[in-house]
Amino acid sequence: MIYLDHAATTPVNPEALKAAWPWLTSEYGNASSHHELGYRASAALEDARMRVARKFNCRTSEITFTSGGTEGANLGIIGLALANPRGKHIVTAPTEHDAVLQSVDYLKRIHGFEVSILPVDSQGNVTAEALRSVLRADTTLVTLMAANNEVGTLHDLASLIPTAHEVGALFHTDAVQVADWQAVDIAELGIDALSISGHKFGAPKGSGALFVRGRLAIEPVIHGGGQEFGRRSGTENVAWAVALATALEQMNVSREEQERVASLRDEFIKSVLAISPKVSLTGNPKQRLANIASFVVEGVSGESMLLALEERGVICSSGSACAAGDDKPSHVLTAMGYAPDVALSAIRFSLGHETTAEDLQTACSALQEFIG
Ligand code: PLP
Repeated sequence: MIYLDHAATTPVNPEALKAAWPWLTSEYGNASSHHELGYRASAALEDARMRVARKFNCRTSEITFTSGGTEGANLGIIGLALANPRGKHIVTAPTEHDAVLQSVDYLKRIHGFEVSILPVDSQGNVTAEALRSVLRADTTLVTLMAANNEVGTLHDLASLIPTAHEVGALFHTDAVQVADWQAVDIAELGIDALSISGHKFGAPKGSGALFVRGRLAIEPVIHGGGQEFGRRSGTENVAWAVALATALEQMNVSREEQERVASLRDEFIKSVLAISPKVSLTGNPKQRLANIASFVVEGVSGESMLLALEERGVICSSGSACAAGDDKPSHVLTAMGYAPDVALSAIRFSLGHETTAEDLQTACSALQEFIG
């Protein structure tokens, strides 16, 4: 089997699993317990927090462990918007993940926030000018993803974040897809909140972390015993925190690795586009994640391509896994201006660090056999 669905999830890194194992077996203490087993669990949790903070160039106290990207987006967006009421205006883009869009919608429906949805162009880009034109004195939060999960387009955070800050709005970024591919320096970018998901980079599903800048208040969305500095109640998942920290340290986000994978991706894009004039690339051709090659194929349904490729031993995605199962056209592609029937003809290949040129050749031949 050739696995080209790394944007949906990645296999657990053996080192991350090895590091987690003791905290699932012999070291089973509750990190909040006042005895030896509890103290050891608590020390492991704090060590993991320190290692995550080091990776993102922030302070230990600014990291909250979560159950993944969805919870991180909920806590980052809802938590910041409710606790920092400059006003009730929030800004996002239509191409964001549902974890973000639904958190924003919750603020609108239940807490009376006003929402501005920025325009995106046909490649999924948003501009600082478009953001500037909707910002207001009562804008509390701007939430824009670092990289899109369906088409791989990278947002230019270096220009978007200072633009939000011009009016004093906070900036949250969903960094779920970018984490495995690019080093994110929180201090350098001036990010106020950032969420990541462990299962996208070799940690188990259900692990994640949220960064929130130190001075900022955050209203919890999960209420209980006050763990995680009162930000996220519930018995801490020490094993998954340790696995997440280890997987982060195991990642290769070097420029050389990005370039290596991006050149495999570009070769693959070239050969897929050569199959037929019916095929076109989606997303920004240059400013895109190193590992995502996404297409629409005129007149061919994404689901039928998915099945045909799977029969030939190639696993990929027809949209984002989270939206799979309902055959509604992708909200990302329709926001980018694709007609609904074209949006239903999407196919996404997402490479991993182990993907080879041969794997990609096989995937391309399989697609050619089906649609060529
Ligand atoms: N944000 C993006 C961009 C994603 O791709 C995903 C998952 O696909 C999520 C958020 C949700 O993360 P999780 O699966 O950890 O809840």
